[in-house]
Amino acid sequence: MASSRLTTDHMSASVIKRAAVLRLYPNQQQVSSLRRWQGGLRYVWNAVLDCVFTSRDINGRWPTKAEMQALIVGMKKMEGTEWIADIPAHALLTLADDLYKALVNWFNSLSGKRKGPKISRPRFRGKFDRQFSVYMVNQNTSFSDGLVRLPKLGQVKFRAGDLPAGRLLSSRVYREANKWYMASIFECDAPEMNAAPVECIGIDMGLKTLATVFDGQGIREVPKLGALRRHEQRLKRYQRRMSRRVKGSNRRTKAKLAVARLHQRIANIRKDYAHKATSDIVASAQTIKVETLNVKGWAKNRSISKSTADASVGMFLNMLRYKAAWAGRSLVEVGQWEPTSKTCSDCGSHNATVVLGVSRWVCRACGAIHDRDHNAAKNIYAYGEERRNVTGNTVESAWTGGDQAGEIPPVPQVETRILKRTARKSNCALA
Ligand SMILES: [Zn+2]
Repeated sequence: MASSRLTTDHMSASVIKRAAVLRLYPNQQQVSSLRRWQGGLRYVWNAVLDCVFTSRDINGRWPTKAEMQALIVGMKKMEGTEWIADIPAHALLTLADDLYKALVNWFNSLSGKRKGPKISRPRFRGKFDRQFSVYMVNQNTSFSDGLVRLPKLGQVKFRAGDLPAGRLLSSRVYREANKWYMASIFECDAPEMNAAPVECIGIDMGLKTLATVFDGQGIREVPKLGALRRHEQRLKRYQRRMSRRVKGSNRRTKAKLAVARLHQRIANIRKDYAHKATSDIVASAQTIKVETLNVKGWAKNRSISKSTADASVGMFLNMLRYKAAWAGRSLVEVGQWEPTSKTCSDCGSHNATVVLGVSRWVCRACGAIHDRDHNAAKNIYAYGEERRNVTGNTVESAWTGGDQAGEIPPVPQVETRILKRTARKSNCALA
């Protein structure tokens, strides 16, 4: 268990950030404080948002972040809202930050400066919306055996694995399925490097399998976690039950909690699976090359969005990133839309006709038969190395003709159906 983990301020040459999630066990009084703060933050959010739009109408301009912060400080002294001073100061500052960011994202999305899906106007938050997290600073935070001291809350019981040994930078307290958690970020010394068994691997994140790994010798496939069908059927049942019950009733609240719990359980199974897979990968090689696919682009293409969500590609990549940093491995992210799936890994020639979703193809130049994922993993493995193809160009230069950037080739209907069928067949033991 964690004993006094907070060390003194020190900066060494290489520091990394590590995150840890603690399960909190606040007592009745602490729970009511936390809930009061969450409600208070909602009130402040709505009040500031209201002022933002009023200010635009009256002054003809948007308020600055400093003005928003000043507004909150002013509310602490205003008659009727003095209770705002009771909310941890850091939580209020973060709220102003978040609101400002939400506005900027919205503006940039409107003006086209920000790519990707349209971002809507920051919303007023209702009582039944997602509750705000309470951000807390480190100054008043300290850990002792099984207890964490938090600003304005006092000692709170917690449970966690080994906490990172380092300086606590920030923590966020939130509630999920009626359980309380604290997500904390620590600044730690970079760990000693352990020698990896293999120098380099290339990873293709696929539709069929979660990841296809090429280590220069052979291919290893990390299967997708199959549909958690039993859980998902139960989830549907719970959701139906919830929707039948009268809004605002106790029975509905109970049903809602059951849905939230099951959601959390499913998410945990997926997370656990990704954790195991990424730890294995990071342990296996010194340099890890991975293609950062346009996950958002995939989601737009409805026929593959389901399998993308299932594969939890974003979560997987994120874990790879921080685990590689912890272990002192280098992670090379091969840019998206480099047509790794269209280049023959045998001869290096470009096959423009290969379509996303087709699992097997024949190279037009050398006649090699490729498995889509295996071929991509080999290309990613070779990425960055000077490799000449038959026409004398380096493979890299052949890849840079990214005129199709952002475009998603349509998935042929027949192939989609095959993909879905194989996905169903590969249910794992958990399903
Ligand atoms: Zn070829």
